[in-house]
Amino acid sequence: MITVKGHYINGQWQAPSNNETFATINPATEQIIADIPAGNLDDINAAVAAARQAFDLGPWPKMTGKERGGYLRKIAEIITRRLDELAKLEVLDNGKPYPEAKWDIEDTAGTFEFYAKLAEEMDETPEQHIQLPEPDFSSTVSKEPIGVAGAIIPWNFPMLMAAWKVAPALAAGCTMVLKPSEITPLTALALAEIIEEAGLPAGVFNLVNGLGKEAGQALVEHQDIDKLAFTGSVPTGSKIMAMAARDIKNISLELGGKSPFVIFADSDIEKAVEWIMFGIFWNQGQVCSATSRVLVEESLYPALLERLVSEAKKITIGEGNQDGTLLGPLVNKDQYQKVIAAIEKGVQQGASIATGGQRPQGFDQGYYLEPTVLTDMDEDSWVWQEEIFGPVVCIKTFKTEQQAIAMANNSRFGLAAAVMSKDEERCDRVAKAFRAGIVWVNCSQPTFVEAPWGGYKQSGIGRELGEWGLNNYLETKQITRFNTTEPWGWYIK
Ligand code: NAD
Repeated sequence: MITVKGHYINGQWQAPSNNETFATINPATEQIIADIPAGNLDDINAAVAAARQAFDLGPWPKMTGKERGGYLRKIAEIITRRLDELAKLEVLDNGKPYPEAKWDIEDTAGTFEFYAKLAEEMDETPEQHIQLPEPDFSSTVSKEPIGVAGAIIPWNFPMLMAAWKVAPALAAGCTMVLKPSEITPLTALALAEIIEEAGLPAGVFNLVNGLGKEAGQALVEHQDIDKLAFTGSVPTGSKIMAMAARDIKNISLELGGKSPFVIFADSDIEKAVEWIMFGIFWNQGQVCSATSRVLVEESLYPALLERLVSEAKKITIGEGNQDGTLLGPLVNKDQYQKVIAAIEKGVQQGASIATGGQRPQGFDQGYYLEPTVLTDMDEDSWVWQEEIFGPVVCIKTFKTEQQAIAMANNSRFGLAAAVMSKDEERCDRVAKAFRAGIVWVNCSQPTFVEAPWGGYKQSGIGRELGEWGLNNYLETKQITRFNTTEPWGWYIK
């Protein structure tokens, strides 16, 4: 069992205000790895008070971007030094294959480095001059940290999702409270240790673990939080939006998806199948932008399906730390049961299972599920329309480009979409026609910290990553000066 030091509040590891804990489990063995303090309202109040004091009275928001960037680079260095250990911790808690966990941790370090650079660049343009039509006036516009940020994250990329919020918030000069997912709390605890080692002033970063309905809700409802950044499911996002409405809290939401991949008949089958497989089976399909709806031009469908089924059957399933594993267990029992139920619902509504749908042979424990390919579902069926969040891909055919676009956009989600064809003009047309925030051409999933990430429609509000991610944590202020000693002339003539 791993021993947990408590919550990280005001630069110290603090015992929880009550003795309640919850267990985090290894999804490959179903064994408990650690008992985690279940943070409550008192813990959140203490963490927000520390962040408030650090913002209002501490040095962090007043530092130059270069100084803050130095701290972020130090965090990136420590993460890189602890890369192997952190990747193994992620495998233990989440179940993902080690090479994918290693990518996550490398990207986590890369995210801190990227925002270190953006923090430094903030010093170069402290304010922007605005040309006004009235010569007696001049205006400048500056960006300021928004204040105390609250961040709530999911379990699918535990440390990386923390970095997507912590790095830009700290770069901007905000102080913050992070509430990780109760399902995968371990690498966020490691991040708090790393921030402690990097020597950030007390209260700048605070961590409270806990359940969503208790610690999460207390954070969202807290009056001293100026900004709430959330990544998770649509139902939770909707609740958060309603709670935030009470005090007009600034929120950003990164929510679910049901991302289409449109494949035209001139595509290379081998390449198409590889991108489909990566798109839906990496991280066990527990990816917001996963390639969960594949649309194939009719004439290519039989050959593509045959190849996809035969390749899916060959995938090596196993414990994430085993060499060669491509598909690990789903994150926990609840998620496993949800995915099984979704497949059953699909079949009840008329879908066929081309492969998968079962616990793989030889696995008596762990939340393992075969890579699954579903066909023959209706366009309005549950499995085609709703996020399954598991290794389950749904395939349908189309006849024309217009039909493919209409089918791709027939969704309440709009996070990501992909298109494959040898015809570049067609790819361009389709890419522009997608109602989605992230579009891939001749590939699916590659994600870069430089480019904006976020969705249309119910997939969320706002963008993370790149300069857009930094802007989430900045307020914009105009200062307008009257530059003449003459009266204004409203009543003094
Ligand atoms: P979830 O909504 O169940 O939980 C996410 C977080 O919200 C957790 O930390 C949880 O404790 C907290 N929470 C739950 N109820 C809350 C409440 N009432 N008040 C405040 N906080 C609360 O989501 P999940 O199952 O952890 O994650 C999977 C979902 O996340 C999927 O829908 C996926 O598409 C989405 N996701 C989106 C992105 C993106 O960038 N758009 C990235 C990763 C995951």
